[in-house]
Amino acid sequence: MYLCDFHTHTHISFDSKASLSDMIAAARRAGVQELCITDHCDLLDGDGNPTPTFPWQEALEQYHARGESPVTVRLGLELGSAPYDPQAARAILAQAGEELDFVLGSLHNWIGAQNNQDFYFTNFTADPGLCRQAVENALTHTWELVSQHPDCYDSLAHITYPLRYMARDGQHLTLAPFREQVMEIFRQVAASGHALEVNTCRGMVLEEWLPLLCWFKDCGGEYVTVGSDAHQPEHLALGVSRALELLQEAGFSHVTTYQGRCPVLHKL
Ligand SMILES: [Zn+2]
Ligand SMILES: [Zn+2]
Repeated sequence: MYLCDFHTHTHISFDSKASLSDMIAAARRAGVQELCITDHCDLLDGDGNPTPTFPWQEALEQYHARGESPVTVRLGLELGSAPYDPQAARAILAQAGEELDFVLGSLHNWIGAQNNQDFYFTNFTADPGLCRQAVENALTHTWELVSQHPDCYDSLAHITYPLRYMARDGQHLTLAPFREQVMEIFRQVAASGHALEVNTCRGMVLEEWLPLLCWFKDCGGEYVTVGSDAHQPEHLALGVSRALELLQEAGFSHVTTYQGRCPVLHKL
């Protein structure tokens, strides 16, 4: 199996202290063949304030200083809330130049409700109505991303993101009640030649992906990227092997990585 981790963070992200060299060393220990650094560029911060910039100079300096390694290292970006400010999203992507390999399209925030705060800060305890609203808000803007701003992402990151914090607050939802909306998104992702991400959330979210992978396959999906969302070296590649098995179980024959924002297929 081709072990690749296409969702990882370093200290360029506000919520990580990891150095790129430590992440590469951890990748090597874990037997990862290809690693992509996808530091956060959220157009809205956790409190919902606009933050339309990314420190490319710092990110590129770190990337250029990575040295020789048996692990192939790619330069990516986790671009959050592109539908909130697509102009800023495009400007940031243009600033990266030719070296950018991969863009994860994320939605961490409510948009147009709850002060645009990160779903992380919402208290979902004992409020199933708020849970439904959050999923609908995230799916509405995911649809906007894939249908109107497809140049702002390569792979659709953690479509289950708000569910993480509902589970934290004791509300265990799946996307099953939202199947039609999710299928519409998946058909668009597939038809436009984009990828779906299986995000293992440091190995904590795995089996939940199988039905979603089956839906994506039914929608004509071909490209799937896999990432651990590690913010520290110890979490690198956690759950990736199992995620690759899930891809097989859902009928996929390949896992996808990206180079120069183009998909590259690797046989499972
Ligand atoms: Zn994320
Ligand atoms: Zn992430």
